[in-house]
Amino acid sequence: MDTTPLVTEQSIEVIYLISAGLFILSLKWMSAPSTARHGVWAGELGMLLAIIATLLYRGIVDYTWIAIALVLGSIIGVPLGLVQMTAVPQRTALSHAFGALCVTLVGTAEFYLRAPAVPPFMMAVLSMEVILGSLTFTGSLMAAGKLQEILPQRPITYKGQNIVNISLLAISVAVATYLVIHPEQTRLFPLIIAIPLLFGVLMIVPIGGADMPTVISLLNSYAGLSAAAMGFVLDSKLLIIAGALDGSSGFILSVIMSKAMNRSFTNVLFGAFGQVQVSSAAAKESRTVRTATAEEAATIMAAANTVVIVPGYGMAVAQAQHKVRELFDALTKRGVNVLFAIHPVAGRMPGHMNVLLAEADIPYDKLLDMDAINPEFPQADVALVIGANDVTNPAARNDPGSPIYGMPILDVDKARTVMVIKRGMSPGFAGIDNELYYLDKTLMLFGDAKAFVGDIVRQLGGEGHA
Ligand code: NAP
Repeated sequence: MDTTPLVTEQSIEVIYLISAGLFILSLKWMSAPSTARHGVWAGELGMLLAIIATLLYRGIVDYTWIAIALVLGSIIGVPLGLVQMTAVPQRTALSHAFGALCVTLVGTAEFYLRAPAVPPFMMAVLSMEVILGSLTFTGSLMAAGKLQEILPQRPITYKGQNIVNISLLAISVAVATYLVIHPEQTRLFPLIIAIPLLFGVLMIVPIGGADMPTVISLLNSYAGLSAAAMGFVLDSKLLIIAGALDGSSGFILSVIMSKAMNRSFTNVLFGAFGQVQVSSAAAKESRTVRTATAEEAATIMAAANTVVIVPGYGMAVAQAQHKVRELFDALTKRGVNVLFAIHPVAGRMPGHMNVLLAEADIPYDKLLDMDAINPEFPQADVALVIGANDVTNPAARNDPGSPIYGMPILDVDKARTVMVIKRGMSPGFAGIDNELYYLDKTLMLFGDAKAFVGDIVRQLGGEGHA
């Protein structure tokens, strides 16, 4: 049999280097809406090149299993890529779970191939790989289940929970340390998989659904670190680079999200945030709100100089972004200055609103971040809130007893008139009432975001068809 390699090892390394460069460019480009598309293409091309280069590796003796895995992966991956955008957080959690399972399986295979003579450094990275891989696998599955509401969203707590969890992690690390010194004790190896698998489940149990996106981002970071450890085991520079990029970007994202919610990491991981708030529920009953029709809303907005639109999760669920674009066009045509206020955690994932509004071709220069738009609210004639709730709640500024106290918010209540499109008086993700709705200057526009915005557009003489 001719064993001449199709390509030399050096060429494979060069392709890997190009892939790594593309991954770095991808992250850089994805940090701004105007270059984000290039970022996605660069990432996809980098991954394609990495897969091709790996398939050309001459150590491969038989492609049958690889072909079967590719087909199975595609059968699972294609439907996963087609989910609604509001389901992307749980979809991402599932991807992390699969990635982490893969890392754990590779680590396990490598251990048993090398044991009992595993050098200390190799055993240390192998242990890190399987511990992080296992806990990320079950943790991500739990996070996906909570977000999909297959599992209860409410934090489940019990006495001594943190001690139990930390002890489990400590036992895994202790066993791993022992294995570094005595790698021939192969019967201990399953423990550094089984205990972290259990830890992954228990770690997520006390965390509420509201904190899941932050936790997913943190799990992303763990998955990246375990992949980097796998890179050391397999002597793959590409895996080390890609894993480190994944690990650090996931961590940075978790920090940004925690800051945007004014939460510390310890509070997210141990705070049991998201328990039912009883205090505001009783008070809610007796309070009244002012309502308005689409016609009245259209008349007020047509007479305004500046309208600031504040999109939130409800706009995403209703898929109202194209109607919002029509509203933008109709108002702009009448000489109204229309701006968009983007809160960093509006919706259910970072960048959620930017992606939806970009999809509807809203000009990027009209999308203003929280720090840029907040000074504009006092001058705005109308703040039109479309399916946003928590990110506009003045309790974050005024009520030290509120669970969202201290979270930076959009200063919607400072606009001259506030209009809120939502279906009823249901709370947002944090499960708390919103003072904004009871202000004298606030008009509630009750209805589905897509239908209501369509009605306003019709009143303004735009397209507005459903
Ligand atoms: P929100 O507080 O979850 O409120 C969304 C509002 O949309 C609800 O009050 C709901 O009221 C309304 N709504 C739902 N479906 C609708 C429809 N079809 N038409 C019109 N309205 C509809 O949303 P948000 O203001 O965007 O805040 C995001 C929340 O998620 C924050 O608490 C944030 O901390 C949390 N979070 C976000 C991220 C992230 O990365 N983006 C990460 C972690 C946590 P009705 O049911 O009455 O209609």
